[in-house]
Amino acid sequence: MLVAVWIGTSINQLGWSLLVATWIWLLWQYLEYRKVLFWSSNPLTKPANSAEHWFTLAYQPYRALVRQRRRTKNMAARMRQILTLTEVIPDGVIVLNANNDIEGMNSAAVELMGFEDADLNLPIASLVRDPEFVNFLREEEDEPLEFTAPGEPQRIYEARRVRIESGRSIVLVRDITTLNRLLTMRQNFVANVSHELRTPLTVVNGYLESLEDPEMNDGLKLELIPRLAPPMRRMQSLVQDLLLLTQLESAPDKENRQPVNMCALLERAKAELDGLTVNAEQIKIDCQAPHRILGFETELHSVCVNLISNGLRYSDPGKPITVGWHQISPTHARLSVEDRGWGIPNEHLDRLTERFYRVDMAGARAKGGTGLGLAIVKHVLRRHESELQVTSELGVGSNFFCDFMLEEAEIAGEQTSVQTQPSAGHPAQQR
Ligand code: ADP
Repeated sequence: MLVAVWIGTSINQLGWSLLVATWIWLLWQYLEYRKVLFWSSNPLTKPANSAEHWFTLAYQPYRALVRQRRRTKNMAARMRQILTLTEVIPDGVIVLNANNDIEGMNSAAVELMGFEDADLNLPIASLVRDPEFVNFLREEEDEPLEFTAPGEPQRIYEARRVRIESGRSIVLVRDITTLNRLLTMRQNFVANVSHELRTPLTVVNGYLESLEDPEMNDGLKLELIPRLAPPMRRMQSLVQDLLLLTQLESAPDKENRQPVNMCALLERAKAELDGLTVNAEQIKIDCQAPHRILGFETELHSVCVNLISNGLRYSDPGKPITVGWHQISPTHARLSVEDRGWGIPNEHLDRLTERFYRVDMAGARAKGGTGLGLAIVKHVLRRHESELQVTSELGVGSNFFCDFMLEEAEIAGEQTSVQTQPSAGHPAQQR
């Protein structure tokens, strides 16, 4: 402007000079304004930073935008991290907004709840129609909920709700079917043990009360004393079996396996059980396979004793029990215990190795079994990489058998697939 005044004064045209200068200044401002307008369509590009230009105005919002962009980037990176983390969590994670619409979920939630990606932003209550679950979403108290899995009534899930900000929440869902089953098994086990101990304890208690009776004569008292022995023995064998089962549940140390001569072991078991037989020939041992396997002798001994004594217990007196040890492939031999006893109805076969499972509860107890014999057998066999199989016909008899790798095969490292003959047996499983 000073230049325009000087030129205008020197040519004596001050008015025109100022007018022209004003027009030039306005044009320049217009061009600057156009530049800012153009920049504002893409405000994340850096504006020219010059004090006398319009960009001075643009620079502050530009800096704020850049800061905001940096923050958003960081947040996005954190979100990605969180999403990656939730993906590795085996539990379902469902993020809900204040209206209980699904904002996000991990793949476990998709799998457990049967959701699809298209379900995002839908109200969760429209997808899970279980009234208990719908109530759980409405509740103010965040108590965990157990509910049946959508579309899978045999599975039980647990849902927990964690509140986050602005009415949003996270629902964590996990499958507790196995946990529930284990808890039920534990409760049943404790109930069974108590029940098994109660009967002999009541008997012992009854005799002890009688013995304390001052009016009972000494002769009668002396007669009562031997009657204490059977219930005491019963409790003792129950406790022994329980302790053995607990030991067998730990993983075996393969290094400590020893060569076990199965034929000698069977003869020893027979000798121990001969006292229970009607005649010396009732238990026949048919030993034909090479003798030795690698294993734990005391455990294998309890397998033989349990299977043979069951054969005796569940057969009419004097019926033969045939115990076989036969080679069934170059690498394996089979131990079999066959009786001509009462047999077992088919529907019981796969439950026989459950603890305290008996086909005829009262009959088996009266016979003196603890109900743990086959559970022990099953655990021992598992520690020897074998499995109990059974075939049985009512009124004809039963055959319990299991296959073992021979010592030579194991030493030769022939750890190939089990080349046993196809077995017609029914695997006796334990739940
Ligand atoms: P227990 O101590 O009652 O014999 P086990 O675990 O050894 O318990 O056996 C479970 C149940 O399986 C027995 O109660 C019996 O009903 C049935 N069982 C086992 N072995 C035989 C067999 N050889 N013949 C018929 N039933 C058998």
